[in-house]
Amino acid sequence: MMHCFTSRFIASLLSAALVQTHALAQAGAQKSGAIPVTPSTALAGPASVLSKAVRTSATMEPAVPHAEQDKSVAARLAAWQSASGKKPNIVWMIVDDMGYGDPGCFGGGAAIGAATPNIDALAQSGLKLTSCYSQPTCTPTRSAILTGRLPVRTGLTRPILTGDKLTKNPWADETSLPAILGAVGYKTVLSGKWHVGETEGMRPQDVGFDEFYGFYPAQKELSQGVDKRRYPDLVLNPDRLEMLHKTGASEGLMHGFKGGATTEVMHIDCIENVAEGDRMLKEFTVAKIAELAKSGQPFFLEHAFAKVHADNFPSKAFEGKSASKYAYKDAVVEVDAYVGEIVAALDKAGVLENTFIFLTSDNGPQLDSWPDTGYTPFRGGKATTWEGGVRVPGIASWKGMITPGRQSDDLFDLMDLFNTSLALAGATDRIPTDRYIDGIDQTSFLLADAGLSHREKVYMWNEGTLMAMRMYEYKMHLHVTEAESQWLAIDMATERQVGISPWLFNLYIDPKEQCAVGHRMNAWLASMGAEMKAHGATFRKYPPKDIGLGK
Ligand code: CA
Repeated sequence: MMHCFTSRFIASLLSAALVQTHALAQAGAQKSGAIPVTPSTALAGPASVLSKAVRTSATMEPAVPHAEQDKSVAARLAAWQSASGKKPNIVWMIVDDMGYGDPGCFGGGAAIGAATPNIDALAQSGLKLTSCYSQPTCTPTRSAILTGRLPVRTGLTRPILTGDKLTKNPWADETSLPAILGAVGYKTVLSGKWHVGETEGMRPQDVGFDEFYGFYPAQKELSQGVDKRRYPDLVLNPDRLEMLHKTGASEGLMHGFKGGATTEVMHIDCIENVAEGDRMLKEFTVAKIAELAKSGQPFFLEHAFAKVHADNFPSKAFEGKSASKYAYKDAVVEVDAYVGEIVAALDKAGVLENTFIFLTSDNGPQLDSWPDTGYTPFRGGKATTWEGGVRVPGIASWKGMITPGRQSDDLFDLMDLFNTSLALAGATDRIPTDRYIDGIDQTSFLLADAGLSHREKVYMWNEGTLMAMRMYEYKMHLHVTEAESQWLAIDMATERQVGISPWLFNLYIDPKEQCAVGHRMNAWLASMGAEMKAHGATFRKYPPKDIGLGK
């Protein structure tokens, strides 16, 4: 019996590994000696007995059907649209590197030295998602939510850093959410951090947004040229500083328009300018909301905070405003205040009842920058596929359409925002069908009272490796990232394949992923292996793209 079980999950493991190797080989990645994957019928239906998901298209992620829930929400949306005569506005607020446990409504807040009354109020006004998943790092999440596609498919598999030279513009053959929304009458604006390319052709205003006001890179890429305490070898060494400037990386707050000019609004040449960045982004967003609301045109506004990504310097007005007094905590208080101001601006403009709001973080806390980092109750942090790296706060709010005080632990992948936003805009028929879309339309899950998720699985990739999968409360790892030093999940970590048995955790009894139950306590290893294999099979017809972001 033991041998039978063991060989079954070895087979599952090998199958998934073969598919992965094959996918990487097709992408021209570093691994060689790929063994061809034999044809399978996995695309035809549910991959295992464990699955309730139905595949309705070869290019769309299978989804769990909830016909009555869909019907009821569709009727409510049609009635809303008929009464308002409008399409709903869509506002996303993406915090950078905020930990799952930072907001008070997710267990942090005042209890850990930084109260978040505005984020808590937003959660109370709508739906709090406790199993909401991002990609492990910035660029992958930011591109995935705008394409509905896993980073391994678009090639945007890791953050773009100073000095990186891409071999191909990933956006050349991708269709972005703002491009589609623009085509159906939306005004589209990105206020804040982009981090998905800053050369011409890759900027927000080049790939679908009508207007961009913000920073191309992460805060650390800006502060490393001005912070002599953290980076004395750069800032106090003129030769090195000149080398850094020669990389040509953007060092400013930029303002650009689709098909128009792009100008630098503020050059980052001192810490004070880094500190005031988010205040300026907020002021732009608040003014833009008033302008957009007045126009009557539906809008998609993505407000992407530069904070709380290291290195954090709170705006002057927020220095010492947290109980903790540490820069990270002051930055959390600052972000929270701006969340309140942005929601208030929507209310003041009279569009709160016309606006779907979603707030989240793009990945888990960057433990490496401790104590300038967030809190997660889970194992690991940013850049890992442990829960600490990819489980993020998720809040959906729409006054009058989402019942206040809801909470759900059903699965939500941030890529679902792509499909859901298009469904809200009545543009589902414009989702590309010539490539694989990993997002799922979650409109009825988010809007129905006691709504259920259409997603039963979240696949977790780190760069070109299929690391893990969550299905229901189970999570199976094929590869794990192990920090060689507790806080250095990025800078001193190794990635390795697990042994004979995949590492399987039951997150309901072991949310910190510390004691694998493996085959001893779980009947589903083979089924979960089959699900991973089926996922790998989607890359056969639609191979991943290589844009030169490998190590
Ligand atoms: Ca991030």
